[in-house]
Amino acid sequence: MAGILDPAGELHAAADDCVHCGFCLPACPTYQLWGEEMDSPRGRIHLITQMLDGAQVSEAAVSHLDRCLGCMACLPACPSGVRYDRLIEAARTWTEEPQPGAAPVPARSPRERAVRAAIFATFPYPRRLRLLAGPLRLAQRAGLDRRLRGSAAVRKAAPELAAALGVAPPLTRRGTPPEHVPAHWPRRAVVGMLTGCVQQVFFPDVNAATARVLAAEGCEVVTPPGQGCCGALSLHTGRAREAARFAKQTIAAFEDAGVEVIVVNSAGCGSAMKEYAELLAGDQDRGQDWAQRAARAAAKVRDLSEFLSELADGSGGQVAVRHPLPVKAVYHEACHLGYAQGIRRQPRELLRTIPGLELAEVGDGGTCCGSAGVYNLLQPAAAGELGARKAAAIRATGASLVISANPGCSLQITSALAAADSGSAPAVVHIAEVLDASFRGLPVADLTG
Ligand code: SF4
Ligand code: SF4
Repeated sequence: MAGILDPAGELHAAADDCVHCGFCLPACPTYQLWGEEMDSPRGRIHLITQMLDGAQVSEAAVSHLDRCLGCMACLPACPSGVRYDRLIEAARTWTEEPQPGAAPVPARSPRERAVRAAIFATFPYPRRLRLLAGPLRLAQRAGLDRRLRGSAAVRKAAPELAAALGVAPPLTRRGTPPEHVPAHWPRRAVVGMLTGCVQQVFFPDVNAATARVLAAEGCEVVTPPGQGCCGALSLHTGRAREAARFAKQTIAAFEDAGVEVIVVNSAGCGSAMKEYAELLAGDQDRGQDWAQRAARAAAKVRDLSEFLSELADGSGGQVAVRHPLPVKAVYHEACHLGYAQGIRRQPRELLRTIPGLELAEVGDGGTCCGSAGVYNLLQPAAAGELGARKAAAIRATGASLVISANPGCSLQITSALAAADSGSAPAVVHIAEVLDASFRGLPVADLTG
């Protein structure tokens, strides 16, 4: 049934695919936390159907939708193939960007609006994030960040600030990868690399390691200048107009670079970039066919593990020599890699090519760690509980290294492990850093240190 929010009736059709069987409920982290129907995928689909039908939206309904992590664990759990990802993304847009003619959505409180405005005025902008990094570094040196986030008054009055200080990594001055890295071996591909916003400010070493790994596997690496945020944080929070603006800037930067593949080392970014065609469908801004440009760009996007696996399958296997890394490691599967992009086999296979590396699995059925973009800042209590559960499951493996493929997960898990244990917590590193250490013959202590 078509309506103002869904002129073509596609969303209604997607919601109607739900047969209310409940198979998705055990997979849903927020249902696991609270056991409430309206905090399950099935309950949220019911709320979204009501919105599509033009019903008045309550504050409680908005809150249930806001409490969804967007982790997409419900997608593979659903035997009817319900496209919950499409439904929740649309619903978030209706609450974040009110649609003309639709039933009014209760406005967020001034405080919540201010928190969201502050997050989206800084996180997607690497230059602004770097400006913040200076004072943060000083605060960390003086131990002020620890005192602030440990203060009961701060946790009560500004839980989002306490959460942000809790996940901020120790900052050091580190460089950025060069715009061009030549291939080490007879060249097999020319690839572009996304530097990301959070990744390039908080984890420049991950980008440098990614470029070295690609070069060692025979790729010339181009890092186009002029790229900023890919739009993932905005897209996953319902800020579709903002996401479209970032997407266009990213598409143009990689078009100018003339690369055939865009390698992405952040699961959330890769997932959003693969959705560019849907985000910019029908967009003819300033006479440009953005829909077509978006579809071309999206088709080039590959997660790092996905690309290395395709490269090995297509042109003579792996060429970089693997040196031993004798360590017990556990692979944390980012939701936006495993559930949203379906990339599960490739990172594990890549890690198993490293001699001496013993790979364990987190025995929690792949529940979200609570990071989920900026969820851990907007919903700190729920994110903290999920982080604590993830930390306990990781500790139970006995691994001394946690391997992630998403900067948000790395920040969240590092913080959760530190909060759970005052002793030596396992180190959290990116899969690119592990491969890089093996290729260069570095000692395990460089990763676990
Ligand atoms: S996306 Fe995650 S949190 Fe949201 S309904 Fe699905 S499983 Fe639950
Ligand atoms: S598993 Fe699928 S069909 Fe069943 S309740 Fe969940 S969303 Fe609906």
